[in-house]
Amino acid sequence: MSGQQEGQHRLRYAIIGAGMSGVMAAIKLLERGDTDFAVFEKGAELGGTWRDNRYPGLTCDTPSHAYSYSFALNPDWSAYYATGPEIHAYFKGVAERFGVMPHIRFNAEVTACRWDDAAGRWHLEIADGSTFDADVVIAASGVLHHPKVPDLPGLESFAGKAFHSARWDDSAVLDGTRVGVIGCGSTGIQIVNALSSRAARLVHFQRSPQWIMPVVQFEYTPEQRAAFAADPSLIEAIRNDPQYWEAVYRFTEGVTDFTSPQIREIEEICRQNLEQSVRDPELREKLRPDYHAACKRLIYSWEYYDCVQKPGVFVEVGAIERIEPEGVRMKDGTLHELDVLVLATGFKADSFIRPAVVTGRGGQALDDFWSVRPTAHYAIAMPGFPNFFMLNGPGAPVGNFPLIDIAERQWEYITQLLEPVAEGRAATVEPKREAYEAYEARRIAAARRTIFGSGCTSWYLDKTGVPATWPWGYHDFARAMAAPVAEEFSFAG
Ligand code: NAP
Repeated sequence: MSGQQEGQHRLRYAIIGAGMSGVMAAIKLLERGDTDFAVFEKGAELGGTWRDNRYPGLTCDTPSHAYSYSFALNPDWSAYYATGPEIHAYFKGVAERFGVMPHIRFNAEVTACRWDDAAGRWHLEIADGSTFDADVVIAASGVLHHPKVPDLPGLESFAGKAFHSARWDDSAVLDGTRVGVIGCGSTGIQIVNALSSRAARLVHFQRSPQWIMPVVQFEYTPEQRAAFAADPSLIEAIRNDPQYWEAVYRFTEGVTDFTSPQIREIEEICRQNLEQSVRDPELREKLRPDYHAACKRLIYSWEYYDCVQKPGVFVEVGAIERIEPEGVRMKDGTLHELDVLVLATGFKADSFIRPAVVTGRGGQALDDFWSVRPTAHYAIAMPGFPNFFMLNGPGAPVGNFPLIDIAERQWEYITQLLEPVAEGRAATVEPKREAYEAYEARRIAAARRTIFGSGCTSWYLDKTGVPATWPWGYHDFARAMAAPVAEEFSFAG
């Protein structure tokens, strides 16, 4: 659709967050001629996770051509898996090209977002003291952006540099020094890969070793990139590569049932990777997980097992007793002396738009609505919070499918929901409470059967131990997003 259609009401939008999803939402509004909106960004730059994460080795483990907006293909990706700085530059370039920049208010953290029953609008308060009223709020505030710093005794006493992976300290010297990396999620693994040839001594602290899915990385040649620029169908061919999608389906359909043959197949591939890649039997056993593959977010790597076998790289699977000025003291008494300690210890994954204070109809607090766990109808909207929508919100397939694809599909769903409001046939839309409760009961029942609930710890689990993610397959998600069920929503006013 291009241009505002006749008979449509001009709605005023507030988009919260200028990361991948927020920039996409802004572009979609501009494409259809909606210019009355602002994007509130707490940082001084756009890019969300790609702005915050600057650690050495940062790479997206979704193929670069799949990790691109469908409307802004990029012939210039340097490799099959692109690096963080390259992805950050891509988002900045796209935002500029599509005219999003003038709409972004930087250093503008939304501290409160209150539904005004009398006015029938949202009232936003910004940290700089300004306010903004909007008909529609799009919360594109990201998932993994509040670092989880471990509660390790003595951490503050460490004499060297200690910092979280998403708050990289550029003054830390990594070349030729002794570095410790705590954590072996996707982040810790990528950091160890990058530092394995730089540090004099590198210790990888692994509380729970991970399964590693082998993948192949390669660079695109200048000739290939020129060909992509000349013929975008070559990019589409990569995006639609049957082998890639077969792997996506194997994973996304398999995770819905932890006894599925797909999960067994994934585990076998990972097991063989471990058996065949790690020569030293003692190290191999240290690296062997004691839970099912894909229970934690699977690691995709073409190099971790090579890197961890380099001289000067050590895996420590013992329990940490405390941090001392000189390094990390293990429970068995061993002291790993270090100059730099990287905390690749993950994120508080249940914050979403919080700490912003959100209140819906009748002053209902989001904190109360989410007192058990963050949830939303189809991961997007909540009863009592009219015209309020989330991109990559609670219960979305974050971790299961390519995130840009998810956000684009969610946007189509939101657009359809808002049609009666945009056409002036209703003032507000929100899910009916019964529909939301029935959905959530189904989601929880299905989530318990997923591989994520098969007996491991991870950021997927909510505080009651239920996987917080989308528990069905890719096709179910695509179908659900293609057309919201109108009867599940109330349109008022
Ligand atoms: P994470 O997956 O939550 O991993 C945190 C790691 O820190 C785990 O190994 C955890 O051990 C360990 N840990 C936490 N507290 C600890 C403590 N007190 N003592 C010892 N170890 C501790 O975090 P992440 O690696 O930052 O990744 C988060 C998510 O970001 C990923 O799952 C992925 O979805 C996304 N990500 C994606 C990419 C990509 O390429 N697309 C790259 C990076 C991150 P336990 O397992 O024992 O708790």
